[in-house]
Amino acid sequence: MTDIALEMPWLEKPWQMIQRLLSEGRLPHALLVNGECGVGKRAWADAVSGLLLCSAPLHKEGGAPVACGECRQCQLLSASSHPDVRVFSPEKSRMIRIEQIRSLSAFAVSSPQVAGRKIAVIDRADQLNINSANALLKTLEEPVPDFVLILLQESGRPVLPTIRSRCQVLSIPLPSTEQADQWLATKVTHMEGDKKPSAELLTKSLMLAGNAPRLALEYATGEFPGLRDDAFDKFRQFMRGQVAVAEAAKAFKALGLEDMLWLFEGWAADLARLCAGGKASDHEAGEMIGFLASNNPAWRAHELLDMVREARTAGVYNVNPELEASRLLIAWRELMPTRRRAS
Ligand SMILES: [Zn+2]
Repeated sequence: MTDIALEMPWLEKPWQMIQRLLSEGRLPHALLVNGECGVGKRAWADAVSGLLLCSAPLHKEGGAPVACGECRQCQLLSASSHPDVRVFSPEKSRMIRIEQIRSLSAFAVSSPQVAGRKIAVIDRADQLNINSANALLKTLEEPVPDFVLILLQESGRPVLPTIRSRCQVLSIPLPSTEQADQWLATKVTHMEGDKKPSAELLTKSLMLAGNAPRLALEYATGEFPGLRDDAFDKFRQFMRGQVAVAEAAKAFKALGLEDMLWLFEGWAADLARLCAGGKASDHEAGEMIGFLASNNPAWRAHELLDMVREARTAGVYNVNPELEASRLLIAWRELMPTRRRAS
């Protein structure tokens, strides 16, 4: 028996909603699921696929169906070799290509091979370009009875309204700190020796990931926290006029474009929050950003946010990470009060 809500309790509400829709025979043909990066959207979609394909679902107390974990469908799925499930995600170009959507459309109208229905997951629907989105519309407008489409959307990234309006929309909430801590602790419990992240690193990764547990796990077991610390040190030094922009930009480049923009976006969002009297989510950068917030009007923060988001959109076409970092760093330094900048 596989019940995702036991492993990731914050998924319970959207999970129960699917169990209910399935029991009542009201399953929509397209679901759009949004949530923060690393909150568990994909795990949720995998669990939903399992439940929809299982040929002998069990019923928990209260009647909610769960996948049995043992039938042929469940076995194929857990071996990631179920022919009636396809996942479409962006490739290196960072957008979902129209060819991928064409192949999805053909899959949608084909007959299921071993299960009673077919499931396609688009991870991430916010990375459909206009052409791919238009191609997808045809599939959404002519629903096939034995086909379910699950679209995953990262919070804050738009999906075209024409797509959105044809889907049932669900949100995956962030876990409480306690739930996230607990989940992380179970995930690292079998790691050995110096591969096992310390409790301190787990807490820090969770903070950097904005409480999204999967992202935090990736951070805690990867290079991100160290690279982020280097970049933040250089950022502070650059703001005080202690290092040249090129040197600071190098530290950001080391993060890679995506993580670098994510970091800048997080700080710009913190700046906007602090300008509006709220709290920073990156406590370590909070002091520096608080100083800028008390010396700048809120619109400057929004201008910076726009700048980062534009860069992210442009990231599709080979942006030079070092130049992009320099451009953003210079924009940040313009927020320093003139007296400080000169000293
Ligand atoms: Zn099963």
